[in-house]
Order: sequence, then C-alpha cells, then structure tokens
Amino acid sequence: MHPRDLSDHVAYEAGRGIEEVARELGLDPDDLIKLSSNENAFGPAPKAVEAIQEYAPSVHSYPKSSAADLRERLAEINGVDPGQIWLANGGDGALDYLARAFLTPGDDVLVPRPGFAYYAMSARYHHGSVTEYPIRKSADFEQSAETVLEHYDGERIVYLTSPHNPTGSEIARSAVEAIAEGTGEETLTLVDEAYIEFSESPSAAGLVGKREDVAVLRTFSKAYGLAGLRLGYAVVPPAWADAYARVNTPFAASEIACRAGLAALEDDAHVEETVETAAWAREYVSGTIECPTWESAGNFVLCEVGDGSEIADAAQREGIIVRDTTSFGLPECVRITCGTRPETKRAVEVLNGLL
Ligand SMILES: *Cc1c(COP(=O)(O)O)cnc(C)c1O
Repeated sequence: MHPRDLSDHVAYEAGRGIEEVARELGLDPDDLIKLSSNENAFGPAPKAVEAIQEYAPSVHSYPKSSAADLRERLAEINGVDPGQIWLANGGDGALDYLARAFLTPGDDVLVPRPGFAYYAMSARYHHGSVTEYPIRKSADFEQSAETVLEHYDGERIVYLTSPHNPTGSEIARSAVEAIAEGTGEETLTLVDEAYIEFSESPSAAGLVGKREDVAVLRTFSKAYGLAGLRLGYAVVPPAWADAYARVNTPFAASEIACRAGLAALEDDAHVEETVETAAWAREYVSGTIECPTWESAGNFVLCEVGDGSEIADAAQREGIIVRDTTSFGLPECVRITCGTRPETKRAVEVLNGLL
C-alpha cells in the first residue's frame, strides 16, 4: 500500500545545518558561521536553558500546569484571555491548527510570493488549494492592502507576514485592518509576526480584540533563540477557544518547551542584546555589502548578489552559510541572518570577496 497522492505537496527546504555542511566540506563545525536560518546569534535565552535543566526531572508528567501558566502569561502580555492563546509545536504547529480549524476540503487560501513555504504546505495538508498574491521586487517588496485585495477572491485564509521573510518588509496595521475589512466575513486574515520583536512597529495583536477575523502568529524560535525546542502560538479572537480544544494535538507544547518559554519571557537582557545586535547588523550589512539590499525589519537582510545559489555555495566553501533564496522565487538573491558583530563582519567580508 501507499500514502495518498501527495504529488501536490513539496518538502520543506530548511536552511542547512552546520554539522551537515561541515561533514560535506570536511571542515570543523566550529569553523563555520551559520547565517542561513534566522536563528538567534546569541543562542537560547540563558534563563530558558536553566529552566530546561531544572525541569528535566519532571518530563515523565504530561504538561498541564506549565501549559496553563504559559498561556496565562502570554495572554497577559498580549492583552487577551488565556483561551485566545493557541500554544503549538512551533509557529508552524500553530499554522497547522488554524488550517485544521478553518479549512474544509476544497477551500482556497491566499499566500504571498515570495513567501514562507509552510503556509501553502499546511493548507495543502488540510486539503486546501493555494493561490498567490505578489510582493513585488519592482516595488521594493512593499506590502499593501490594495495588492492583497486585488488578488483576493473569497479565500478562506489570507496570510500576511510582517516583518516579511525573506524580504524584511512590513505591512502597516492600518493595511491589515483594511484587508480584514475588505475580505469576506468568513475569511481569516492571519498575520505572521515571527520577527515582530525585531521591528519597531506595533503588533497586529491589538486588532484581535477588536475584530473577529484576525489572528496573529508568534514564535519563540527567533528572538528568544528556542528554534530547537519548537514553541509558538497564535493569538485568536475570544470565540475560538472551543475550536482549539477540538483541533489541538493533546499537549501541543512539551513540558520543557512550556517551562523554557516562561523563563525566556523573563529574560529581558537576552532579548535586548539580540534585538540591538540585529539592528546593528542590518545597518552594517546594508552599508557595507557591495550589492543592492532591502531595508529589513527582521533579523536578516536580503541581498541581490546575481546568482544566489552560486554565491551561497562559494561562501559556504569559505565557512559562511547563507540562504540561497531560489526556493522563495528569488534566484538572484541570498538572505543573510544577522549574526554577532564578528560573525556579521566576517560574512560581509567573504561575500564582498565573491561579488
Ligand atoms: C521562522 C518562521 C516561522 C515559525 O517558525 P517555527 O520555528 O515553526 O516557530 C513562521 N513564519 C515565518 C515567516 C518564519 O520565518
């Protein structure tokens, strides 16, 4: 026997891991600088590491009170009720829960191109079909309500990303509101804020209390440095608490993830250093690299290098791993994650040598 017909589905192409690349090139992993997956240059929040160690002896129990505590804390931070926080196995897990809760087979969703591959993947797993709206390079990847609404044709979910991966552009809160207003009553406007901590713009979470058709996605993978732990959540309207109970995989976030998440939220020094250094690195990269770049509100910079895959391969041979953005539909670019100061300087030096 076989799995069902999956020919419409594509595998997620993650940025490559340090060990993988080191093995292939016969290098020491310590000699590589990985700036390909928008991970945190400073590692995990130290308070989260302590919590992981402290709670290791408790992992024989299912995470009940820790999940409740984390939902409560996140609710407080976002100004909503705990029932409005859908904890999940990464932001990607929260995308799945929303697709599960909203899509009936044959429903369409509207996703950005270029954009984050998992929106379409998750929708297809849930028997949805995918249409795209453009985020145009010719307009410096500007995101506007007009473009989204022009391409909108009654889809069930409209995915917005702010700051946008891989371009770094943002969408104004007023535009999010205009999209929610301009789409049908049964259309969810989903704002992916995986990188919001790096931005100076306000979160769209404020709209969640005002409207019944907007949800916001967040993750601990980026600013909190917990990508390997898999913890994310959606902030949703009050009426959907019941839907979460019906669609979530039991114990959606692990005991360790919940404990580490709670601790990371208290680790202000780590987030501040992360965000400040990313702001420095964005300026440094765009000011120093000898090719066009776009202004970014995330912890990465999109750079137009000519042949993205060739440059990424060549940089890798010199120990710098950046993300070739061909799979995003931008074969002429690479995306460089903001590293520490020395890492970022070294990356630009190597890339300038290749350009
Ligand atoms: C990283 C990222 C996410 C979430 O990643 P998780 O590790 O699953 O939390 C979501 N959206 C975008 C655009 C991202 O770059």
